[in-house]
Amino acid sequence: MSKADQAQKKLRQYLEIEKAFGFDEAPKKNPRNAFAVLQPSTPSAKSEALARLEAEYQNCKLCPLSATRTQVVFGSGSAQAELLFVGEAPGLDEDKQGKPFVGAAGQLLTKIIEAINLKREDVYIANCLKCRPPENRNPSPLEIETCSPILTKQIEIIRPTIICALGKFAAQTLLATEEPISKLRGRFHEFNGIALMPTFHPAHLLLNPDDKKLVWQDMKQIAQKLGLPPKG
Ligand code: SF4
Repeated sequence: MSKADQAQKKLRQYLEIEKAFGFDEAPKKNPRNAFAVLQPSTPSAKSEALARLEAEYQNCKLCPLSATRTQVVFGSGSAQAELLFVGEAPGLDEDKQGKPFVGAAGQLLTKIIEAINLKREDVYIANCLKCRPPENRNPSPLEIETCSPILTKQIEIIRPTIICALGKFAAQTLLATEEPISKLRGRFHEFNGIALMPTFHPAHLLLNPDDKKLVWQDMKQIAQKLGLPPKG
């Protein structure tokens, strides 16, 4: 069998497996995708695909953070969410509980979500990195590169209308830029064909409450794009 025939056979086998898992046969064309991603075609297929992905990585040892974490913090919320929040990495509380944004910053995020007439269960919340860096240090380039494909896959499965990048790290990672968050926030960008709004991280707001008004401006734009009733 020639190399081309072998490659075609491999592709056919791959597509058969993906189809059996409830994915369409239309890969997204985007060079930033780390996976040849095929999208789930129904709401239940989305939930199942997300659950399978979580199971696949629950004992991930692909990068050094596996040695120091308590558990992988995959993400939580609705697989059908129109709004996906992305933060940096789990902190101490998240590492203990296995859920993203459960500490003080998480409580503030819940209030921000409710301020635009949504509940936490309506949205999906994840981080760029799934394991806590020791002492909450900045993730290394290797850790980011190794873990990012998991988030990319989550995004492709959920395919939300809007991604809200919380803080400098998430915004810069998703937009592949070094522009400061103060310059990035306030307007929509684009990630793999999805509208992306960067805004300040809730942990930043706990230390800089004056910036809440800027986050509120960003959230109002998100609510408007989602067709949610205005508040305040
Ligand atoms: S941070 Fe990501 S790549 Fe590293 S061990 Fe955790 S899940 Fe795996």
